[in-house]
Amino acid sequence: IRASASPRRPPGSAEGAGLSVLVTGAAGFVGTHCSLALRKRGDGVLGLDNFNSYYDPSLKKARRALLGSHGVFVVEGDINDGRLLAKLFDVVPFTHVLHLAAQAGVRYAMENPASYVHSNIAGLVSLLEACKDADPQPAVVWASSSSVYGLNDRVPFSEAHRTDRPASLYAATKKAGEEITHTYNHIYGLSVTGLRFFTVYGPWGRPDMAYFSFTRNILQGKPITVYRGRDRVDLAKKNVVEMPGNGDVPYTHANISLAREQLGYKPTTSLEMGLKKFVRWYLSYYGYNRGTHTFRNS
Ligand code: NAD
Repeated sequence: IRASASPRRPPGSAEGAGLSVLVTGAAGFVGTHCSLALRKRGDGVLGLDNFNSYYDPSLKKARRALLGSHGVFVVEGDINDGRLLAKLFDVVPFTHVLHLAAQAGVRYAMENPASYVHSNIAGLVSLLEACKDADPQPAVVWASSSSVYGLNDRVPFSEAHRTDRPASLYAATKKAGEEITHTYNHIYGLSVTGLRFFTVYGPWGRPDMAYFSFTRNILQGKPITVYRGRDRVDLAKKNVVEMPGNGDVPYTHANISLAREQLGYKPTTSLEMGLKKFVRWYLSYYGYNRGTHTFRNS
């Protein structure tokens, strides 16, 4: 950090630029896009990511290289490392923290439940501690998840829906995160805003998500696997191959009225266009050869 950051300003930030933002989980899918968007506006961005191996670390490294070429440096470190956080806040007076680092995915919780507690609970508290102690105190925006709506069957989900029936440990940690961030707000006056993302997708996306694995399998001539709430269905065999408790919710659908009204949120990309964009990226990233139907990197 000392070598790369000018003191009191995030690397890449121009004199007189707008915000100074620490983006946690910057080498992740959403973190990469948000960091690039902030840079495009002229904000200074410093990334933090532990480059965990939940999915292909080479994809995270490629995102880091992309960020580097846009003036975003990503520090390799864990949000549980309080000393590292204190050092970062000491070097740069962040005005905002965009907290996206988390153990994502619902099914992985059955293999590694501790990683959800480590990143989504202990890591969140560690980060909030650093934010509350920082001078100036940054405003925190963090990623909760639509998974907090859990086993609701009244779609579309709006902010008023119940959130007391999580269907996975992932969802439970996001719900806990909402309570924890509220607590830091009313006890320490920390400004915290949580966003409940609904299935974010697109170029540089996450290999564990359906649109990514469907694309990969279809292009490789393999069957796709569809999770139907509690059952896993192999479409090639047309039968159920695995039963209950995989963490998926039976329904998901966002009511974005309030976001439209209060944030001016206006989706501009149709699902069809978004998927096309993703597939185009996939083909170029993995070096698809149309002649031989082979890939260079997969
Ligand atoms: P992602 O896995 O691509 O990104 C998360 C990043 O955080 C990864 O690069 C990972 O290495 C890093 N990370 C994890 N634990 C860390 C730790 N302890 N310290 C430092 N870095 C750590 O996931 P994403 O899809 O980009 O999701 C970003 C955020 O949005 C997450 O909080 C996720 O739970 C939330 N979210 C995503 C979606 C979606 O559809 N993509 C939906 C709802 C919520």
